[in-house]
Amino acid sequence: MSDAARKFLLGIVLFLIAGALVGGIYGYAVIGLMVAALLALVWQVRQLLSFDRALRTGNFDDFRYGDGIWEQLFSRFRYENDKSQRRKQEYRRLLKEIRKSTNAMPDGAVILNADNEIITCNRAAKGLAGLKRKKDLGQRVDNILRDPELVGLLHAKDQSASIEIPSPVVDGNWLNCRVVRYGADQKLLLLRDVTERIQLSKMRRDFVANASHELRSPLTVISGYLDALSDDDQMPSTWAKPVSQMRVQGKRMRHILGELLELSRLESAGKAESDQTVDVVDLLNKAKQAYEGHAQVASIVVREESSAGLNSIPAEIETVIVNLLSNAVRFTPNDGEITLAWRSGADGADLVVSDTGEGIDPEFIPRLTERFFRIDKGRSREAGGTGLGLAIVKHVLARHNAELLISSEPGEGSEFRCHFPAERVVVSPPSLLS
Ligand code: ADP
Repeated sequence: MSDAARKFLLGIVLFLIAGALVGGIYGYAVIGLMVAALLALVWQVRQLLSFDRALRTGNFDDFRYGDGIWEQLFSRFRYENDKSQRRKQEYRRLLKEIRKSTNAMPDGAVILNADNEIITCNRAAKGLAGLKRKKDLGQRVDNILRDPELVGLLHAKDQSASIEIPSPVVDGNWLNCRVVRYGADQKLLLLRDVTERIQLSKMRRDFVANASHELRSPLTVISGYLDALSDDDQMPSTWAKPVSQMRVQGKRMRHILGELLELSRLESAGKAESDQTVDVVDLLNKAKQAYEGHAQVASIVVREESSAGLNSIPAEIETVIVNLLSNAVRFTPNDGEITLAWRSGADGADLVVSDTGEGIDPEFIPRLTERFFRIDKGRSREAGGTGLGLAIVKHVLARHNAELLISSEPGEGSEFRCHFPAERVVVSPPSLLS
């Protein structure tokens, strides 16, 4: 108990005793005590009402009856009140400073609380996403920018994730969105206009697709004549080798054009929507069978570690398997082993192609999915490689929100793991899979 509280209680007790004594002098000790108690009560009620008034008006200066415990209460309260006012002012000043500096930024910045409600935003956010600082204050940002991908991003744990959404303000424009978390579950939503980049990459994609398409028809004609020539008995024997080589190269070019067209299609196709459940183990077995009977191929083992299905398009998963398996076959000696595995867990499912082949130098691993990247170009070409296989695999996986994880040890072998998110995994008895 503080000194003031002790003094306060002592004062009341003495006051009551004095009341009883004065009353006792006149032979009414109990009445004297009651009058003293009533007076003490009135006094305290008065102090309480004054405190209430001071709280409502915020004016503690004209408090006239303050002493003892009440005085201490008032001064403590006034001190805390002043402190909080000063803090508020400082907070407002800081917010103004932040707004001033972020207003100078070309990118949109939106500060959100834990419930994704807008605390404040800069001027660029208005131009890019139509957000208005005063009008939209306290509104949920996902109620204003209604994009399912943005909703996903706001709840994603991955700090480095970013998405591209169509601009809600200008038709045909695109925004890149990133979420940076800070403090106690607060978020900073960053918006950037990426229209030019998106248009450029669309132009590049269209150009590659159009060029591949245009080249395919004349190539088919040339290949047709070369086939006819090689079947012609009257063709001079000196032409046999060049014609045969031209046919091989023609076939190779058709293969490259086909893969380029496939890449363009995958790039512009968006997310893989399907109501089919793919039996991955069945596809693995079929891919293995395609190599059965070949003398020059390492032994292939299929491991079915899960009976789960995969929500996808069968042809696309087949493409992934064929590309990874054909690489494993090309880069693994005959006495090596290739393992095709399908496994699932709480965080999704993995399609794994591993081999005991020559492995890959770690410095090349990040570049393997680049178009036309091959560690040994000459050797890859000889073996019929185009350098587009892993790029295709990467794009198919991106359409499934899946990722390709590569690990390898030179001289020991490689592992290509396709990790699919849990929402793509269909857990049902294998007999029900289609
Ligand atoms: P390619 O048509 O040349 O196989 P890919 O995109 O499929 O093109 O592969 C790119 C390169 O990655 C290959 O040329 C090869 O150097 C390397 N690579 C792919 N798979 C393996 C593997 N299983 N073992 C060793 N190297 C591999």
